[in-house]
Amino acid sequence: MRILITGAAGFLGSHLCDRLLAEGHEVIGMDNFITGKPSNLAHLVGNERFSFYRHDVSNYIFVPGKVDAVLHFASPASPNPNSPYGYFNLPIQTMKAGALGTHNTLGVAKAHGARYLLASTSEVYGDPTVCPQPEDYPGNVDPIGPRAVYDEAKRFAEALTMAYHRYHGVDTRIARIFNTYGPRMDPDDGRALPNFLKQALLGQPLTVYGDGSQTRSFCYVDDLIEGIVRLLYSDEHLPVNLGSQHEISLLEFAETINRITGNKAGIVFVPEGRSPRDPQRRQPDITRARTILGWEPRISLEEGIQRTIPYFKKVLGLE
Ligand code: NAD
Ligand code: UDP
Repeated sequence: MRILITGAAGFLGSHLCDRLLAEGHEVIGMDNFITGKPSNLAHLVGNERFSFYRHDVSNYIFVPGKVDAVLHFASPASPNPNSPYGYFNLPIQTMKAGALGTHNTLGVAKAHGARYLLASTSEVYGDPTVCPQPEDYPGNVDPIGPRAVYDEAKRFAEALTMAYHRYHGVDTRIARIFNTYGPRMDPDDGRALPNFLKQALLGQPLTVYGDGSQTRSFCYVDDLIEGIVRLLYSDEHLPVNLGSQHEISLLEFAETINRITGNKAGIVFVPEGRSPRDPQRRQPDITRARTILGWEPRISLEEGIQRTIPYFKKVLGLE
């Protein structure tokens, strides 16, 4: 296939490029580098099956030649209000990437008769009142809350994707991605794993926001990419949760990272660190992914963190 990947210079997008190139496809990457980096794609320079367009997906997209698949991953993704890469500080760009970017990429898929995959998020569930969250849980989101720029853009993106499927017959898929981590996450992007791993490797105390009782379920990137690729090859049009079922409190997560890295600086609680409406619990129900895709994560949290450490050491200049 000839595949367009938006957000290609980001964490997940760059891993997707690698995986789909390894499967023999031709990949067209697109990114405006608002949160991603050229260095994430540097190793693909010279690959004759890879091409790249620097372009903002909120503007009309023209791709010369045929396109067989479109994967829309372009969007700021960090909720940290203190990070310049977080969507709190990129509110309009975030809404435009989710709304206009989804419209434009769906337009490309429709024009080319291409299959389409939307990178949606567990944030469509907001601060959930049920745990684990199945795909038919409609969510608990404040449309004017501080997270709304991301959550509602993704909810709009899902609605538009289903509209293009139902009304125009576009062959669409929706991945609801839960917290994923691994190499090529930007150490400064403000999410929990980059913050914790950077702090641990620099021998600093880990900043646990609130009292650390909030939970997440962290999935290693290779597992997530496997799920995305299986979904792309499937015929499933309804949303599919992809993520780890291993729910862990943020305090326990921080302690795990300190143990694995041997960091003796401990933990510091930052009560005001939690962003408004920071979900208290998050864990996917992955029954649908198991049943339809035969997928579930394989890599333990311990192993995933071990595999991520060398990248962080390299970019932090520690080796
Ligand atoms: P990232 O910030 O590393 O990557 C996003 C990429 O999109 C960046 O390279 C950025 O420059 C690019 N981008 C943003 N707006 C753009 C625009 N208007 N035009 C062109 N490029 C643009 O984040 P990520 O973690 O790799 O997330 C990728 C996608 O996966 C996002 O859509 C995000 O919502 C979704 N997602 C990620 C996670 C996760 O845990 N990593 C969880 C749920 C959903
Ligand atoms: N968090 C934390 N310390 C940090 C960064 C994040 O305790 O240095 C918490 C944050 O408040 C949230 C959880 O970790 O409860 C996960 O945050 P992340 O930014 O990774 O993404 P989210 O799951 O909220 O989208």
